[in-house]
Amino acid sequence: MTERSLATVQQLFPSEDGNPQGRHMLLELIEQIIKGVDELKNPDGVNLKGDKSRAGNFYNDLIRSSSIPADSIPLEQVNTELLKLLHNHPYHTKYFLTNILPMASTPGILGMIAAFMVNGNNLWDVYGPAGAEAEVKVISMMSKLIGYDALKSGGYTTWGGQGAVFSGLRLAIAKVAPDALRKGVPDHLYAFCSDSAHYSLFKSMEACGIGSDNLIKVRTTTDSSMDVNDLRRKMEEVIARGGIPVYIVATTGTTDAMGIDDVEHIYAASAEVALRYGLRRPHIHADSALGGFFAFFNDYDFEANPLELKPDVAQALHAIGSRMRHLHYADSLCFDFQKLGQTPYLTSLFLVKDAADLRLVDLHPDETPYVGHRGYGDYHTGYTLECSRMASSISIYSALLAFGMQGYQRLLAQLVEVNLAFREALIRQIPQIEIANPDNPGIVTLFRIYPDSRPGFQSEVSGRCTLQEIDRNNRFNERLFEILGRGRDRIFFGDTKKHLMVPTVDGGPVALYATKIFVISPYTETRHVHDIVEYLKEHIAQVYEEYAQAPMTSGR
Ligand SMILES: *Cc1c(COP(=O)(O)O)cnc(C)c1O
Repeated sequence: MTERSLATVQQLFPSEDGNPQGRHMLLELIEQIIKGVDELKNPDGVNLKGDKSRAGNFYNDLIRSSSIPADSIPLEQVNTELLKLLHNHPYHTKYFLTNILPMASTPGILGMIAAFMVNGNNLWDVYGPAGAEAEVKVISMMSKLIGYDALKSGGYTTWGGQGAVFSGLRLAIAKVAPDALRKGVPDHLYAFCSDSAHYSLFKSMEACGIGSDNLIKVRTTTDSSMDVNDLRRKMEEVIARGGIPVYIVATTGTTDAMGIDDVEHIYAASAEVALRYGLRRPHIHADSALGGFFAFFNDYDFEANPLELKPDVAQALHAIGSRMRHLHYADSLCFDFQKLGQTPYLTSLFLVKDAADLRLVDLHPDETPYVGHRGYGDYHTGYTLECSRMASSISIYSALLAFGMQGYQRLLAQLVEVNLAFREALIRQIPQIEIANPDNPGIVTLFRIYPDSRPGFQSEVSGRCTLQEIDRNNRFNERLFEILGRGRDRIFFGDTKKHLMVPTVDGGPVALYATKIFVISPYTETRHVHDIVEYLKEHIAQVYEEYAQAPMTSGR
């Protein structure tokens, strides 16, 4: 290769020796991106500026027009292309209220950059010592936060809250059927979660080969938490049929309504049933992907109230905390740092109470010829489903240092305060609205609107409505979803078609639709609530106007 072409290749990499020219080049390119995004920002709407129409054959056209360029494109020009991808992209302004999709914080981003600069492979500390070190640190930090013995606990960063639910299931199976790793999974194993749980367990049951028919859904109470008596009953039914309950996912912060399962109660009930039938207690995974971060208030002194939280905010946080303090009853759990941990995707942390559990799913040394189990290296994650792993622990570490306990407490308290302000304003300003998760303090409000004054939410949750009435109300709310959806570049609300399963007088249980206000941006403040609620009011009025002109016929 000629000198020149060699130089061209090397210019695409950070320097080998730390020379200032190389550094400046990299910094300038990074600045081009950051400045480019800044120029697209628009705090009066949700989306970044720039045109992008995804109508028509958008993706098909992309397929046709995309090919690898024959020659190298200068990096400034590549950056320009990258910035075009960001045109009209949703951005986490104060009007971003749709779901648990946070902004990546500065320390979270810096942690990623630090990790990328050495690009270690977190599979083995010989390849990725920085990632291993950060991983051990953050596992210890989070273990201590929730009350695990950090000298006994273990864990790793993985592919999402869903990956954590899957990892918990692998442990659950291995505990009851150690042979399953070699011989396949027996078909009489059962798992349990509530109606309001995330579909992660459903998918995991499919993927591990047990099948989703062996997933038993437990009823929820009106606060979207698991009805533990129903769990007990359903475990007994499974056992009576010759099945073995191996896994319970306790959702500690449901994705829609922030319902919080009582892990202590679930632990006690499942242990009692297991004991009675001479079985091993099922593995309990607390799916705390979203809600676990409220454990930052576990040791908060609500009496002294050092952060001067307003009484209603303190009360809400205290109520959440009264359930979160039981997280340590779970055998495993998860913190999705890309949710309330304020780090970029993908930074989920799977924790196990007893690190020895991980040995049940570890690879035999014979099966890892490339890495690990050598005289050198002390940290080899043969128990993860991934082989190579990114060192996302470094980003988590960075955020934990930068926020600290109080930083997270302040941020969460602000989100809770704004959410309370929304609830109050909705109730006061829009009489047609009923709050659909009134018993769930937190950062999300779900609400429904009704075509006529009655039957309303109370009749629905208490089972006094017909299927037809609920169907009609759901479709009325769906109209609002559509109207709000069209304006989502201005204010971005969320919605769900599966809030609560409610009984009906003439049929089975049916799901309620609800609009969501998810307070997630650090830039949404209580002083913005009024305008946002005014906006909602106008759009809700449109639903009623359309309804007056063309009332929905009942039935589909
Ligand atoms: C978000 C969420 C998940 C899924 O997490 P991913 O990181 O998207 O895989 C699972 N369970 C709960 C309760 C969640 O909120």
